Amino acid sequence: MSESILPGTSGLVMNEPLLWEKGDQGRIGFSMPERDVPRTDPPQGARDEAPDLPELSEVDVVRHYTRLSQWNFGVDSGTYPLGSCTMKYNPKINEDMAALPGFSACHPMLPGTMNQGALKLMHRMQEMLGEITGLRSVSLQPAAGAHGEYSGMRIIHAYIQKHSGTRKKMLIPDTAHGTNPASAAMCGYQAVPVQSNEQGILTAEKVRELMDEDTAGIMVTNPNTLGLFEENLGDIAEIIHAKGGLVYCDGANMNALMGIVDFANLGVDVLHLNLHKTFSAPHGGGGPGSGPICVHPDLDPYLPVPRVEKHANGYRLSQDYPDSIGRLHSFYGNFGVMVKSYAYILTLGPLLKRVSQMAVLNANYLRQRIKGAINLPYDRLCMHECVFTDRYQEQYKVNTANIAKRLLDYGFHPPTIYFPLVVNGAMMLEPTENEAQQDLDMLVEAYTRIAREAEEDPDLLRNAPHITKVTKLDETAAARNLQLTG
Ligand SMILES: *Cc1c(COP(=O)(O)O)cnc(C)c1O
Repeated sequence: MSESILPGTSGLVMNEPLLWEKGDQGRIGFSMPERDVPRTDPPQGARDEAPDLPELSEVDVVRHYTRLSQWNFGVDSGTYPLGSCTMKYNPKINEDMAALPGFSACHPMLPGTMNQGALKLMHRMQEMLGEITGLRSVSLQPAAGAHGEYSGMRIIHAYIQKHSGTRKKMLIPDTAHGTNPASAAMCGYQAVPVQSNEQGILTAEKVRELMDEDTAGIMVTNPNTLGLFEENLGDIAEIIHAKGGLVYCDGANMNALMGIVDFANLGVDVLHLNLHKTFSAPHGGGGPGSGPICVHPDLDPYLPVPRVEKHANGYRLSQDYPDSIGRLHSFYGNFGVMVKSYAYILTLGPLLKRVSQMAVLNANYLRQRIKGAINLPYDRLCMHECVFTDRYQEQYKVNTANIAKRLLDYGFHPPTIYFPLVVNGAMMLEPTENEAQQDLDMLVEAYTRIAREAEEDPDLLRNAPHITKVTKLDETAAARNLQLTG
């Protein structure tokens, strides 16, 4: 493959100063008409001097922000295989729908009679997520995945408290997402780690050993953070239920399972989804998210309030649920995110199953094609992501961080690195369904070249990246000593 096909960065990565450094006295963006009314005295307390704002022309400002936007890398720029984050493309129709004035301008304090469209959308969204997961009692209120976990843990806590009194522990596999033990701890549970077997999944035996009547349940990420399906979850759920516990499933990895797995059949009691992963709403930079929870009918009374109800004369919000864990968010959650994901689900309908199949196919294609160059610790069929390590490169003193930085030179966002923690030097690749075979082949090519570079010129990797706007940083110093100018 010739160099020119790889989407690397080029000499057109522009420098850009702060607007204050760029401005010049007297430069203007627009002209005011001559004053044709008498001047009046400024009101009391008005400042004597004009604020220190840069003086700029329109084209200065347009170029400034356009250049800054080009320093960024997003799903609209290229392949972004950041494992666990499902950085899938957000179809532009989603943005058009969320921008419709009826959605973007509706205010949560309007009376319900004037917000019927928004309430209907939320109610239908709940039904659709119930259909997709098999758990039909749904709340859209949590603002992110971890918030969904916290809400789900609170529901489990409330249910267990009512039915079997206080329990102190929560089982959490070693392959769980890091937010899981944190959410359990925030609800007062002590996290008890469960070791996965040599195939990278949980076994019923291990769970049986640990489950007791002081344990409220288990929190399983499925597929787990190794990208592997927890095949024994059905048996595990039976063990947990037999001792009066409940099963929480972290469904942030739903992109592997849409239209394929019914979580109610698997014995799951509570599940959260990440609309800003699986259902294409954009994320990153701490922007708004949405982490709906879907629960077993027995847990319905505990869902957060307010809840959207459908009545003969329309939709309304109700607080009238005495067992509810209460309110988790101002108003009802991040509505704009819900609209984008609603549009995504309606666009695809039953093709959501195909999305998951393609995501799994793409991950397995990468797994199979990269494993000769980069070590694959669990060499078995994966779901929507796969985990490699730097073991083959260790002998050349090249590590995962070096490889990730070198990928920037080849024009790719690096994968998630050093996670999951159960794998030393992990690189976690999640291509999503969006990448065409040509895109995946270019990523394979980059890895193949990097593996060769490790043998032939390890310094090249140790000092990477070389052709990015900012080259190798002292990351500790960069974090402690922020330098915000271009
Ligand atoms: C992303 C993710 C979370 C947390 O979701 P946030 O929206 O970032 O809070 C939890 N579990 C898994 C498996 C994830 O991938």
